[in-house]
Amino acid sequence: MSIRDNVISLLKDIPEGIIVVAAAKTRTSQEILEAIDAGIKFVGENYVQEAEKVFSEIGRKVKWHFIGHLQRNKVKKAVEIFDLIETVDSVELAREIDKRCIKVNKVMPVLCEVNIARERTKSGVYPEEVEQLIKNISVLTHIKVMGLMTMGPRFGDPEDARPYFRETKRIFESIKKMGTPNVEMKYLSMGMSNSYKVALEEGANIVRIGTKIFGERSQEVK
Ligand SMILES: *Cc1c(COP(=O)(O)O)cnc(C)c1O
Repeated sequence: MSIRDNVISLLKDIPEGIIVVAAAKTRTSQEILEAIDAGIKFVGENYVQEAEKVFSEIGRKVKWHFIGHLQRNKVKKAVEIFDLIETVDSVELAREIDKRCIKVNKVMPVLCEVNIARERTKSGVYPEEVEQLIKNISVLTHIKVMGLMTMGPRFGDPEDARPYFRETKRIFESIKKMGTPNVEMKYLSMGMSNSYKVALEEGANIVRIGTKIFGERSQEVK
């Protein structure tokens, strides 16, 4: 199947109103453009340097989501390129984003990344830390929390991920109820190629899909 066919069959399968982010790490501009031609409107990148290259060739015909681990020394560039940063997991990172956005007079929408399964090797804050992180970010003027993102653990059987997605949705709703000023709990980003159906059933409204659009990656990157 071509990238085009993959996108068309994927989009047919996903209800309207759901944001499909094409997770494009390691893919060329040409591959990404093929996905865009077939209907993709959001592209996710994990590395700022890689994003710079494809962004310079593709530009603003799509929305760009940052979905990797953001290093503080890359924030300046990230703020120029990305429309939404999905992976904020510390107040220090949030402050750096805020600082850079003040300079360019922009308000950056972000999601807070939750390490829902408490995996040592994964980024994101632990479930019990989410509320405090969001409160701390809410006082910053040039960054706005718009929801939560989680990777969830990778299982062979996506059903095994269901309780983790459900728990993330529960946290999402409880933070929404708090009604913190300058926080708008609108987006819940969870689910990848093998797990997006389960994630959608558990309330995701952003899914991040790589392999199912572009095929297997030749080398696995985090
Ligand atoms: C690579 C990646 C995805 C997509 O993974 P696939 O299994 O290829 O669909 C989603 N989210 C993040 C953060 C990723 O790095």
